[in-house]
This record gives sequence, structure tokens and C-alpha cells, in this order.
Amino acid sequence: MRNKILTSVIITVIFAISIVACSFMMLINMEQTKITKEELKNINYLIYELNDVTDVSRNDYEDLKNIKDMKINDVEVRITLIDSSGVVLYDNEQKSSENHKDRIEVKEAFEKGEGYSERYSATIKGNLIYYATRLSDNYVIRSSVSINTITLLQKENIKYSLGILMLVLPFSLFLSLRLVKKIIDPVKELESVTLKMTHGDYKIRANIETHDELGILGNSFNNMADQLQIKIREVIDKQNKIESILKSMENGVVAVDNHNRVISINPRAEALLEIRKNIVGEYLLDHINDYDISKFLMKDEESDKEIKLLHPFERDYKIKKSDMFDGVENIGKVIIFQDITDINRVELMRSQFVANVSHELKTPLTSIKGFAETLKFVKDDETREKFLDIIDKEAERLSRLINDILVLSNIESNLVIDMKEFEPSLVIEEVINMMRKTAINKNIKLEFINNNSKHILGDKDKFYQLVLNLIENAIKYSKDGSGCVEVTSYTKDEYYCLRIKDNGIGIPEEDISRIFERFYRVDKSRKKGGTGLGLAIVKHIVKIFNGEINVKSKLSEGTIFEVKIPYM
Ligand code: ADP
Repeated sequence: MRNKILTSVIITVIFAISIVACSFMMLINMEQTKITKEELKNINYLIYELNDVTDVSRNDYEDLKNIKDMKINDVEVRITLIDSSGVVLYDNEQKSSENHKDRIEVKEAFEKGEGYSERYSATIKGNLIYYATRLSDNYVIRSSVSINTITLLQKENIKYSLGILMLVLPFSLFLSLRLVKKIIDPVKELESVTLKMTHGDYKIRANIETHDELGILGNSFNNMADQLQIKIREVIDKQNKIESILKSMENGVVAVDNHNRVISINPRAEALLEIRKNIVGEYLLDHINDYDISKFLMKDEESDKEIKLLHPFERDYKIKKSDMFDGVENIGKVIIFQDITDINRVELMRSQFVANVSHELKTPLTSIKGFAETLKFVKDDETREKFLDIIDKEAERLSRLINDILVLSNIESNLVIDMKEFEPSLVIEEVINMMRKTAINKNIKLEFINNNSKHILGDKDKFYQLVLNLIENAIKYSKDGSGCVEVTSYTKDEYYCLRIKDNGIGIPEEDISRIFERFYRVDKSRKKGGTGLGLAIVKHIVKIFNGEINVKSKLSEGTIFEVKIPYM
């Protein structure tokens, strides 16, 4: 650009100088011709005034011959005498034998008194300026001079012009360079700033201090850069927010364009699809190893599907595909992987619970119904009594079952907890007092060792239920006559601890991990009449108290339940 401007400026300067020089030379030419013409005219008048050149009788043209050193610009003037018939009577240079009647200047002079022309002379063989003056009706005196008188001048003018040009050129070159620098420097500054901005430096601004159009352009550029920086910051902010949302999402999210190339993928989706590198811009299907997912992604008609992934962990997922729009145009798809393992598990638990409840309720009901129907036909009092006893026991079992189900459902659904500070030992004493009769009936020793007087915070009724279930079990699963149940209340570290130890039948090792499940009974043939819900209730209550429960048991030796509740 710099060279272009420089070349244009130099061409313009040379062109301007040439035009000026040519015009100047033309003017000088015209002026010179005019002066020469005047001088030739004066010479003619001089000849006319001084001599009687037309005196043909003398025929020697002595007077004309005496006129010497008639020069214009150092060039000898040619003087010619011509008569009315066009015959050249005298010529101080080269007398022509040709008839001059038709020469323009001669013709004009005979007609008007004076004639002028600039033309080529066949006699002299050169361009001449002619001026003819009529001396009388029969004669015309003509002076002429070579046009070189003027061209000579022209050559000098050319020299001067060239000299001036040589002087002007370096000066105009210097001015042009300055002008170019003034134009180019701000443009260069803008170019370098633009380049730096392209490389991510949005803080840089153009420093153009001129107040012309380039200065205004620089200011506009800086304003544009300010706006751009604000917009970019907004976009980055938005992008960061979207990225943090995507990163912290539990669901896997993948966005692909219309050619199935990945636009965005969150860490959760990368983990579940076992992708360990950045695949943005690559084809999603190239990185999916699971047949079900690939098939689903390729089928346009399916919009959601449930699949099971075995790696890295066994989980259930619901995949959903939905179109992504940019205003009105469809720009691709969003694929969401929703982890439904927990939902499925809860659903399974719910259906299992319903099945278990139905089954548990059905057993005593069938028994009651059967015995009640048979009772109608029993006449014998003893059998009738026996049957009634069975019906009574089954009804009681049914009632306990329903009661336990209600307690469990109440604990599970009651989210608002009645928080109060209470002394656990007092609650334990209450339970022990209530259970003492049962223990005495079974000839079981029931001991309470109280080493704690601190209060704990929580729902007192639920704590009562917890203690009741554990002591009830300890008595229930102890051997009649030789049993001993030891309840200890104490503080360890920052925890309130409750230990219930019995020397009863114990729990087989393989069942220990399952005894807290709903309706789980170690051995259905133990015939202790339990519902299998007691420990499920205990586990829930411990959870409400933010505590933990541990079991140690040995078959035929006894069991220890230990509950730890933080004081908070
Ligand atoms: P259940 O109503 O049958 O007692 P639980 O949920 O209270 O139901 O207990 C689950 C199972 O754990 C019981 O069936 C029983 O076999 C076993 N179990 C609970 N406590 C004891 C214990 N102290 N000694 C031995 N076995 C126990």
C-alpha cells in the first residue's frame, strides 16, 4: 500500500509538472512567435521607409543588399522582393525561380496590404515564419526567419524545465513520503491492534492521535473493541455458567450437530460412555461401544429408551433424544442420559413390599378363615377351644403386622420430626418396666446398667419404639429359664451409646447383613411369631437420629446390638 500511494503521488507530481512545463512552453512559443511577427513587420516597414527598393530601373537592388545584419535572436532574417506576377526579384539568401504568387503571405499582402504565414519553405528546406508587406501595387517585400529562433528558445526552456523538475522531484518525494507515513502509520497501528485482538488480547486499543478521518476511524475502532470486549465477557460468562451447570449435572448430556459431531459433552456423559479424551468436533458414534446406545442414536424415530450399562458400574439409564433449535433452524440434537437405577430400585422395592405385605397378611387371614369355617362343624368343646385359641393368636399376629406396617410407614413418611431434648435412660427404664412382666414369664433376667445422664435431641416416641423393638427381640430370642438380657446406656466420645446384649439363640453369620430388611426373618420355622419388620423400624429410627447400629452375634451364644447417636 505504501509503495502504491508513493508511486501514485510521484506520477501525479511528474504529470502536474509536465503539464505546467508544456503550458509554459506553449505560452512562450506563442509570445515568441508574436514578437517575431512584430519584428518582421518592423523590418518590412524599415525597408519600406528607408529605400526605394521598387526602383526597377536600377535593377541592382543595391539598397536591399545594403541591409545587413538583420537578425532576430541571432538568426539572419531572409528578405525577399516579389512582384505582382509572383516573380522573385530579390532574395538575400537563396533566390527562388519558383513563382511566389500563390504563397499565402504574398497573396494576402497584395490583397490586404499585409500577409502572414508559418509554413515549410521548399527553397530553404525548413520551417519559416513569413511576414509580407505590400510596397506598392506591384511589389511586396517579405521578411522571414527560421522557426528555429523559437525552437532554440524551446530547447533552453526544456533545460530549465528539466532543472526545475530535478529540484522539485526530491522535494515532492520527501513530501510524498511524509504524507504516506501520515496515512500508513495509523493504518499499520490498526492492523497490529487487530492482529493482537485476533490472538485474544481484547484489552489492547489503537493509539491514533490525529484529529482527521483516520483519528475518527481509530476512535470508532476503539469503541467497537470496547463493545466487543463487553460482549465477549458476557458470552464467556454465559458459557461458564452453562459449563458449570452441565458439569454439576447428575444426568449425562451430549449435544451433537446435524452430522452427529459432538458440540458439547459433560463429564457425567463422558464417564458413563467411558470416553477418556476430548471428543468435541468428532463423530459421537465413533466413540460409543455400546450396541444399544449406537442403535438408538442411529434411529430417528425413537425418542427415548431404557438401557442397562454394565460398565463401569451396573446402572439403569433412560436415554432421551430431542431436537435442538437455533431460533427456527434445527442445528442438531441433545441426548440426555438419566440415571434411573434408584428410581427402578425404589419401584422394585415398592412392588416387593406390596407383594410381601399381601403375602404376610394373607397367611394369618387364611388361617383365621379356615379355622372359623371349620369351627361351625366342631361339636367337641376341647377342639373348639383349641381352634378359638389359634384364631385368637392369628388375629393377634395380624394386628401386630398391621401395627408394624403402620409404624414403619409413619416413620418413612413423617418428615416433620418432633425434636425435643430428653434423657434416654428414662425412656429405657419405661420400656424395661413394661417388658419386665414378659421377661419374668419367660424366666429371663432383665438388667439395666445406666452410665449416662446426658440428654439427647430427637423424637422421644421414636426412641421409645427403637428401645422397645430391641429389648422385645432380645427377650423373644432368648432361651426360656436361662436367658439374661443386659441393657447398658453410656457415653463414648461424642456419642450416646445403647447396648442390648442377650445370651439367646443368636443369628447365623450369613443372615446378619439382611436382618434389617423388611419382612426378613432368619428362620421362618423359628415360630417366634415376629413380623420381620421390627429391625427395619429400628434401622429407620437410628437413621432419623443420624446414628448407626451394629450387630455382633454368634449362633447359640447370643447377640449384641449397639446403637450410637451423636449428641450434636
Ligand atoms: P421379627 O418381628 O421377626 O422379630 P425383626 O425385624 O425384629 O423381625 O428381626 C428380624 C430377624 O432377626 C428375626 O426374625 C430374628 O430371627 C432375628 N433377630 C432379631 N433380633 C434377634 C436377637 N436378639 N437374637 C437372635 N435373633 C434375632
